Amino acid sequence: MADEISREQMHAYLDDALSESETARIERLMRDSSEYRTLLIQVREERDRGEHSLGGIWRRERLSCPSRTDLNGFLHGILEANHHTYIEFHLKTIACPTCLANLDDLQEKQA
Ligand SMILES: [Zn+2]
Repeated sequence: MADEISREQMHAYLDDALSESETARIERLMRDSSEYRTLLIQVREERDRGEHSLGGIWRRERLSCPSRTDLNGFLHGILEANHHTYIEFHLKTIACPTCLANLDDLQEKQA
């Protein structure tokens, strides 16, 4: 859903890892909703405690971009479902510029 912020997105927001439009969307939603402001506070507290939350695991994972082989597998839709979802999130939500460039390159070679 377009009008939701997940915990993971909140972490990405705090990491400054989101695209400009996503950052703007989250800031707008937080302005309008005390629920999201509360979520932000909770996520910040979690981070301060260094909790091994899903968000924490995800942040560690995010540090390693998928390999070119993985991106190629993603392109061909042959990856295991969890892996595919992770790469999709990395590309679409995080919009990692390195991986997007890699993906473009792979697509061009394929064409
Ligand atoms: Zn990446």
